[in-house]
Amino acid sequence: MEIIRAEKMGFCFGVKKAVETCYKVAKTTNGKKYILGMVVHNKDVVKEMENIGFKVVEEKDILQEKDNLEKGDTVIIRAHGTTYEVIKKLRDKEVNLYDATCVFVDRIKEILIERQEEGDEIIFIGDKNHPEVKGIVSFGKNINVFKNLEELKGSSLNTSKNYSVLTQTTLNKEKFLEIKEYLQKHYSNAQIFDRICGATSERQDATKKLAKITDIVIVIGDLNSSNSKKLLEVALASNPNSYLIQNENELDLSIFHENMRVGITAGASTPEEIIKKIENKIRGNFNV
Ligand code: SF4
Repeated sequence: MEIIRAEKMGFCFGVKKAVETCYKVAKTTNGKKYILGMVVHNKDVVKEMENIGFKVVEEKDILQEKDNLEKGDTVIIRAHGTTYEVIKKLRDKEVNLYDATCVFVDRIKEILIERQEEGDEIIFIGDKNHPEVKGIVSFGKNINVFKNLEELKGSSLNTSKNYSVLTQTTLNKEKFLEIKEYLQKHYSNAQIFDRICGATSERQDATKKLAKITDIVIVIGDLNSSNSKKLLEVALASNPNSYLIQNENELDLSIFHENMRVGITAGASTPEEIIKKIENKIRGNFNV
């Protein structure tokens, strides 16, 4: 048997940094500790964070004053970031705030603020219900959010105004290029910023490559993580013998045989320890 890992897999830069921040804060801080929402979409990681002393506090509870936060408690903002209103509430409560918002998300927020100060209107392409988008647009005023090109085409915006165009970090690159082409044709004064983070597409491209050269693909990730489910879809498109599992307990050894080339990949919210446990379980049961 041969085990081949995808060239890009597992934690992205932003998630890795947020999780490291949690470990560091757990070691160096006393008192009650909270993470704002799930630090990553992975139940095993959330359980581990609870084991090292964190509780999850929800944004809606903070906004509705239903949280139990007190002055001096510690709160970590996860990689997606959060809204202006939530940050203000947390500051007013005088909690000990650690901002683990990914630098790529923060940069989009900064550009949005700068461009509005310069007088531009903002067109934002992304899912308005996604926490990252909710967070970024809350720092501006009257932002025009469109989910996709179709929504943008159906809008009644004055096409001759000065616009700055920003997007969600995970927007599909091909869709971005279509939107860019449309804007360049129809919006004479639009400045378009390409701030898409490559982490998602890199993992998908690597999975596609892996699925083509292996007999079976194991995608490791939470069953509710959208990026892990997308990796499974990508793998299945090239290799029908592909499976999504969350941890080593879900690994069914009967699907393997000695002469297989086994591909392993993992979503951006899957920690290396879980990947290793699964890889080691396969190695322990076959001649690799
Ligand atoms: S996917 Fe990209 S933007 Fe999002 S947290 Fe990871 S590195 Fe940051």
